[in-house]
Amino acid sequence: MTGKLLIVGFGPGSVKHFTERAKEAIAESDCIIGYKTYVELVTDLITDQEIISTGMSEEVSRAQAAVKLAEEGKKVAVISSGDAGVYGMAGLVYEVLIEKGWKEAEGVKVEVIPGISAINSCASLLGAPVMHDSCTISLSDHLTPWSIIEKRIEAAAAADFVIALYNPKSGKRTRQIVEAQRILLKYRDPKTPVGLVKSAYRDREHIMITTLEEMLTYEIGMLTTVVIGNSTTFLYDGKIITPRGYQRKYTLNSTKQKLRPHERLKRENEPWALHGGKEEESSSLKFAEEAAKIVGMKDTPEESMIPFQKIEQIFELAVSPGVANKQFTAQQMLTLAKIIGDKGSMEYTPHHYIIVRVPTDQPELIVSKLKETGLLVNPIGDVLTIKACDFCDGEKKDGIPLAEELYERFSGMDMPKETKIGINGCGMACYQAVQEDIGLVFRKGKFDLFIGAKTVGRTAHSGQLIAEGVEPNEALSIVTGIIKEYKEKGHPNESFFKFFKRVKNVHGFQYKDITPVLDLEPLGCGE
Ligand code: SAH
Repeated sequence: MTGKLLIVGFGPGSVKHFTERAKEAIAESDCIIGYKTYVELVTDLITDQEIISTGMSEEVSRAQAAVKLAEEGKKVAVISSGDAGVYGMAGLVYEVLIEKGWKEAEGVKVEVIPGISAINSCASLLGAPVMHDSCTISLSDHLTPWSIIEKRIEAAAAADFVIALYNPKSGKRTRQIVEAQRILLKYRDPKTPVGLVKSAYRDREHIMITTLEEMLTYEIGMLTTVVIGNSTTFLYDGKIITPRGYQRKYTLNSTKQKLRPHERLKRENEPWALHGGKEEESSSLKFAEEAAKIVGMKDTPEESMIPFQKIEQIFELAVSPGVANKQFTAQQMLTLAKIIGDKGSMEYTPHHYIIVRVPTDQPELIVSKLKETGLLVNPIGDVLTIKACDFCDGEKKDGIPLAEELYERFSGMDMPKETKIGINGCGMACYQAVQEDIGLVFRKGKFDLFIGAKTVGRTAHSGQLIAEGVEPNEALSIVTGIIKEYKEKGHPNESFFKFFKRVKNVHGFQYKDITPVLDLEPLGCGE
């Protein structure tokens, strides 16, 4: 058999968005079959082909005619807008062939040529709304029972898919979009960004950016695709963006990342994954069950759809009762417990703070609730932390003002790598200020300053004494100078110790190698 069916998706409409193969297919065909409007869109490409164009709802006769002509030995291009396999002619042509007992080996040849579907062409005009899991739903109930369409909208809304509604409305079908909006509003914020794109990449292209609650006040028609964001989709400078989730792991406004490349796929850095951030996976089923519990899924499929859980971000922060104060109150613990609930976690660290991790989309609210109870709240990661002692429970309080001043100025400041300033209220230095990147020890009304401790490893050592008996103001100015220099000249991820060793002189202070002479190989974390 020489006949061939070329089922061509020609994309949104402009010739620029035709694929090379789609153009070739039209050029090599003997006749072109399509809906009138579509034939008009490809006029520029037509040479001497026979044209068979019919009206809407003539798809079946078009498919039958195409099959017949191919069986007669013709090369037939069946054209569909967008992708021919998405509410287009591809499936129907196959169904007509199947009715005739067609088999690929003996029958006419069939080639389906892919095109850009409306979900993609419209998304490109709106920004990047389809960056995450998405689906298309056609609201046309001419061939599909509304009861099924309704279920699909409900399911897609509950599962937080970005949704592209095709065939949203026509002259006669006007209620479907109203119903769709009603269902969506059960699960999504009324302010969810919505894009209405009419005639993408065609002459009468029109783009409207609105919200779920207001979308019906704008024109929606047969040539419109309605793109509905998910729970994380946002609007920026007239563009609809759905984040992929990079912000969970990366800092997007910095070239320096808190997780190094080899750390990015570690389980503990993905507490939201199926493994739950836990070390060993004893049985994947067990974890799947645990994950299902976390998202509120029940055993039966019906129940598992609802209630819908908003996709939240894991918010991480360091919490402590004070700079010098080490005592938590009952009220603070209660507030922490409430905030953490079943889904969050509290991790006790050696750095005078507790790391709180909570899934939330309202980090500001959490910070304000914690602050209300008098807790100090700080970011974690490559930031500066002030570690003061308890000044003998406030009895040796003379060093406290400087500790508080340093906290006010520097706590939470971004640094090349996590940096700690230790401040101890007497020469005992029992909170080990001399073991920190920068250490201040209050003694007889003045401060001794230590810098460059090697804080980790088997060759860990104290910092070197750089100044003795300095006044609080002078201590503050020296520390400020050191921090400034490290911040400016330190390489990303370079500890203060390594920085000092590399540059040899910081703020006028000379580096001395005080590494204990031990014949030990350096080992990495966990080795
Ligand atoms: N096969 C096509 C879809 C055909 S169904 C595709 O893959 O894109 C018809 C619906 O597609 C329209 O009601 C509209 O929702 C959408 N559509 C097709 N072309 C479009 C365009 N250029 N701009 C906006 N929506 C379009």
